[in-house]
Amino acid sequence: MKRINPEFTSELKASSVGHFVNGKTVSVSEDTQDIYNPADGKVLRTVAMGTAQTVEMAIDVAEKAFPAWRQLPPSKRSRVMFQFKTLLEENSKRLARVISEEHGKVLDDAMGEVQRGIENVEYACGAPELLKGQHSKNAGPAIDSWVEFQPLGVVAGITPFNFPAMVPMWMFPIALACGNTFILKPSERDPSAPMLLAELLTEAGLPDGVFNVVNGGKEAVDALLSDARIEAVSFVGSTPIAEYVYKLGTSNGKRVQALGGAKNHAVVMPDADIDTAINALMGAAFGSAGERCMAISVAVTVGSETADCLVSGLKERLANIRVGPGCSENVDMGPLVTNEHRDKVVGYVDMGVQEGAVLVVDGRNLEVEGHESGFFLGACLFDHVSSDMHIYRDEIFGPVLCIVRVDTLQDAMELIDQHEYGNGTCIFTRDGEAARYFTDHIQVGMVGVNVALPVPVASHSFGGWKRSLFGDLAAYGPDGVRFYTHRKTITQRWPSSVNGEGIRFAFPSND
Ligand code: NAD
Repeated sequence: MKRINPEFTSELKASSVGHFVNGKTVSVSEDTQDIYNPADGKVLRTVAMGTAQTVEMAIDVAEKAFPAWRQLPPSKRSRVMFQFKTLLEENSKRLARVISEEHGKVLDDAMGEVQRGIENVEYACGAPELLKGQHSKNAGPAIDSWVEFQPLGVVAGITPFNFPAMVPMWMFPIALACGNTFILKPSERDPSAPMLLAELLTEAGLPDGVFNVVNGGKEAVDALLSDARIEAVSFVGSTPIAEYVYKLGTSNGKRVQALGGAKNHAVVMPDADIDTAINALMGAAFGSAGERCMAISVAVTVGSETADCLVSGLKERLANIRVGPGCSENVDMGPLVTNEHRDKVVGYVDMGVQEGAVLVVDGRNLEVEGHESGFFLGACLFDHVSSDMHIYRDEIFGPVLCIVRVDTLQDAMELIDQHEYGNGTCIFTRDGEAARYFTDHIQVGMVGVNVALPVPVASHSFGGWKRSLFGDLAAYGPDGVRFYTHRKTITQRWPSSVNGEGIRFAFPSND
């Protein structure tokens, strides 16, 4: 095992984040972009904005590394993943701190993100089992047939700011375990955690060139989507970019999975345990300042009594929500990622008021003492929201929860089904029949019953429906294995005394 940079946190104090190519950090003379500490609004460091040439350099390296990595027995690739998992556990607090520093989320939340990422690495450790394929003895007379899972080649991942460690780990552990080489293009807003992951992978024994990170924005993405040597692209981010990546990537002949935005509804039934629902909604709507693709941003209350109880309970709890720097103790909610994003979310809150929704809790004037220049926004709660309002239709991606009042479960389900997004949803109820009807019929990819954030575990796969996912296969788990492999079916017969056959023009069959 080679220890390349045990003091990587000190390296993070460096003023610029470069790229990670061929097993080491490289800097190229390029434009840079500022990375902020959202808790105080100051520039922490800058990130290199990779050009088409930088991407080409990474693809060259990944292409060269592919043949040897592909040939390695899956058990040996799996051993690298086991070692990587150990290193992730040893370094989880450091990773969480880096995530919190650049993203703004609270440390507990960042630790949760790292842990969910590790679970994907654990799944990838099962490569020998996952890649066993399928075998049919005597598929025909003296004929055996089997299906092999073969790697694609060089694949790429393009990831969003909101889970700088976990979302890359939805992708590369399984892609690498399947025998591919990988180029990651992380979000330019918080690139340091992915760079640390690259260092840990190298420390875990991953051969140079198998995993590379190119930082940057649109130019780097376009270069990945255009280069014929990239076989497949996994994307996670907003819907407009997901659609763009899907269209451009597939038109260039690549396999693409592009996960997009969301507007996740929680249905609260009259028989729900209302305290459980309120507590769950507090975390699901305001955790990570609402910057989660599975965040609940709409609570659909069935019956006016349910609505009144929910609104008063949320209002009471929101009075005690602790907003502050993510790296501090005893904080529930950190700042938003950038000032522009904060302004955008505030713009939505203003719009909601203009459109006639009732702003029950207004977080717009919140100031965090000693952090006046931070990108903070207090929690906002809207009641009496209707489906024609922008605050209902659009993904806001901030600490804003909308209450939509309806009369029946059927009304709630129609509302959800008519929304353009179909990522996650949940129902709070004690009624098994209602829950079963809901899970059976709702047009959404990930559904919870009394579980507000039904994020699938690593042995299942993550993916929404409708405009929340472009492509056929979801992220990680069994779909991940399928996405990152070709299935090849081999049909074999060896000459023997029993299977001699003359010329036969009929289609082969077992008749
Ligand atoms: P984003 O779409 O702005 O950026 C995602 C990635 O695309 C980044 O790497 C970015 O550099 C790149 N990118 C941005 N603009 C581009 C352009 N014009 N051309 C090419 N590439 C471009 O998303 P974000 O703001 O970083 O993340 C938040 C969004 O991600 C939300 O919409 C959220 O719902 C979504 N998200 C979805 C899931 C999911 O699983 N469905 C998970 C996490 C986040």
